[in-house]
Amino acid sequence: MPSTFDTVVIGAGVFGSWIALDLAKRGQCVLLLEAYGPAHSRASSGGESRIIRMSYGPDEIYTRWSQNSLRQWKELFAATGENLFHRTGVLWLSSENDATLSASHTVLSRNGIHHQFFERSELERLYPQVNFDHVSRGLLEPESGVLFARRAVAATVQAATRHGVRFQIAQVQSPRESQTALPFIETSAAERISASNFVFACGPWLGKLFPEILGSRIFPTRQEVFFFATPPGDTRFAPPALPTWLFQSDEVYGMPDLESRGLKIARDTHGALIDPDTQSRLVSTEGTAWARDFVARRFPALAHCPIVETRVCQYENTSNGDFLIARHPELSNVWFAGGGSGHGFKHGPAVGEHTAALILGEAAPEPRFALATKATQQNRTVH
Ligand SMILES: Cc1cc2nc3c(=O)[nH]c(=O)nc-3n(C[C@H](O)[C@H](O)[C@H](O)COP(=O)(O)OP(=O)(O)OC[C@H]3O[C@@H](n4cnc5c(N)ncnc54)[C@H](O)[C@@H]3O)c2cc1C
Repeated sequence: MPSTFDTVVIGAGVFGSWIALDLAKRGQCVLLLEAYGPAHSRASSGGESRIIRMSYGPDEIYTRWSQNSLRQWKELFAATGENLFHRTGVLWLSSENDATLSASHTVLSRNGIHHQFFERSELERLYPQVNFDHVSRGLLEPESGVLFARRAVAATVQAATRHGVRFQIAQVQSPRESQTALPFIETSAAERISASNFVFACGPWLGKLFPEILGSRIFPTRQEVFFFATPPGDTRFAPPALPTWLFQSDEVYGMPDLESRGLKIARDTHGALIDPDTQSRLVSTEGTAWARDFVARRFPALAHCPIVETRVCQYENTSNGDFLIARHPELSNVWFAGGGSGHGFKHGPAVGEHTAALILGEAAPEPRFALATKATQQNRTVH
């Protein structure tokens, strides 16, 4: 191992793995350190699937990043020979006078992103297996879909190592902050590793590593996910009959039956604050009852189908849902990349590109991602 690196990236979730890959592509000597493994079962990136969609209401920066990222994900999968993107289409469903959908329409049009509006009667004709009560219209993004998340991160780490990134399993200790720059980091095995720059892409663990700065600015919340079996011989809940869907006013999203794992459903509302190391990974009785009720109401043919899989993960929210990609306030060679806030996965490639350029002094910091904009009270505005 070299005695010193240009950059050490800590955390091989979707953010850290893309940052390491991008730095290596720019000629840097990079070490990627990870406590458990790429997109392991406790990481926020550790799910089977994540939505990639372009609509973000008026928040155009995320639309552009999502568009950029989808292109890069496809390039990565083309290079590895394993396609981990499924173009299911993404259908937004809203009730009367939904300003977010109208704002999305303006931004999607401006960025040349194909989309279609459907009135309620048209939705009922196209998707008779869904109950559209209280829905007035839908916006379909036909080119969007689902990333097979856990495997996509593993593919990113493999690509990074092919570009020369050194990958190592190790837990990094909280750095001491009484300095102006960090000379080295120390692992729990007492190994010291020096570098010119250190990027902490530690998702929901950021607050534990930097308790004084981030302990009250990253809010890890418990999120439960359910997969419902579909009836035998019934293809109405798989693509192309059913796209990925989001009921905006219910704050519930889900995916069609992919790889025969069943219909996925989850609440986008934030659950209880948790510790990612210790929270129970078993779904709650309350969550299970809610999921059953929701499925019975919105997908009546699945009312009596068994739950075949569950997962418990966590969002790593900032106060309003904007990412945190910024330099440490005191340590000039330490960077934070996190705050994915329940929507970060899709943006991995754009986060990698931006963070690498930022570290190399080739991009200006984005004010929305600054530490100064991260409050200690939650008030979500980005969805
Ligand atoms: C249920 C659920 C559904 C979601 N749905 C979507 C979606 O549909 N679309 C979307 O775009 N996004 C979605 N998200 C959000 C997205 O998954 C996250 O924003 C993203 O995965 C965060 O990635 P990350 O790399 O920042 O964090 P993580 O994936 O958590 O990675 C951080 C890594 O840092 C490592 N680490 C931490 N501390 C240390 C240490 N001291 N030493 C070494 N390593 C360390 C951890 O082990 C971990 O592997 C969802 C999230 C959840 C939980």
